[in-house]
Amino acid sequence: MESRLAKISSPTSQNKTFDPKTGSLILLLSDFYYGYHKGDGQPEQKTHSTFKCLSCLKVLKNIKFMNHMKHHFELEKQRGDSWENHTTCQHCYRQFPTPFQLQRHIASVHTTQEPFAVCKICELSFETDQVLLQHMKDNHKPGEMPYVCQLCNYRSSAFGDVETHFRVCHENTKNLLCPFCLKIFKTAAPYVCHYRRHWGKSIHQCSKCRLQFLTFKEKMEHKTRCHQMFKKPEQLEGLPPGTKVVIQVSLGPNQPGSVKLASITMGTVESEPSPLKSKSRISKNPH
Ligand SMILES: [Zn+2]
Ligand SMILES: [Zn+2]
Ligand SMILES: [Zn+2]
Ligand SMILES: [Zn+2]
Ligand SMILES: [Zn+2]
Ligand SMILES: [Zn+2]
Repeated sequence: MESRLAKISSPTSQNKTFDPKTGSLILLLSDFYYGYHKGDGQPEQKTHSTFKCLSCLKVLKNIKFMNHMKHHFELEKQRGDSWENHTTCQHCYRQFPTPFQLQRHIASVHTTQEPFAVCKICELSFETDQVLLQHMKDNHKPGEMPYVCQLCNYRSSAFGDVETHFRVCHENTKNLLCPFCLKIFKTAAPYVCHYRRHWGKSIHQCSKCRLQFLTFKEKMEHKTRCHQMFKKPEQLEGLPPGTKVVIQVSLGPNQPGSVKLASITMGTVESEPSPLKSKSRISKNPH
């Protein structure tokens, strides 16, 4: 398995165009910012491990146990009927200031087939493509993959990829996954205890993705470790230095009279493509 600089996942490396007029390279937002990395690739040994729910004494295998605990906590929350019920997203567990803002978030991010101007990394929506592009430029690095499977280093720009990966590749093993912070547990009691603390109130929400942590320290460690460029988009390889890179949400031709496509300029390619996998850079504005 080649590990030096794994290839960017997207097979659509043709998604770039040169604009001869300006001498700039136009790339798709999704190719520039999103990707996934296969990880160590060793299939994990399946076991017959089971976990016992101490509330109802059911004994279940890992994935079923995780679903079961989620269900317990959701019921518990509903019975409580607190304000947070109406302001916490049941999909990504984010809290919003008002129920109205929560509804708007669910409608624009979690329920539309083709979400409009949504950042896949944070799972937040924006007014226009242009605002989304500005958000990407200000908050994310190219090839940033903050969601990491702590068992095998599989990682992705999208939370859902890592969750699905866990449910497929680590099914019927001795591992339990926390859906808030992606921490791994091997036994039921500490898992449930940890899970319960997330459902409680004190949250350290990462400002750059959907993960939430129980402590400020964990959050800061995650932010420093996981929000760097992980893989350089392959479209940037071998470009002459000085090439200007422009990012667009779509690559449709700009017909005369049509609405101008939203785009943002990323600056120019540095002279030496220094792949960044192991290089840790200090973020310019740490939060
Ligand atoms: Zn139970
Ligand atoms: Zn949500
Ligand atoms: Zn974002
Ligand atoms: Zn994994
Ligand atoms: Zn957690
Ligand atoms: Zn994060």
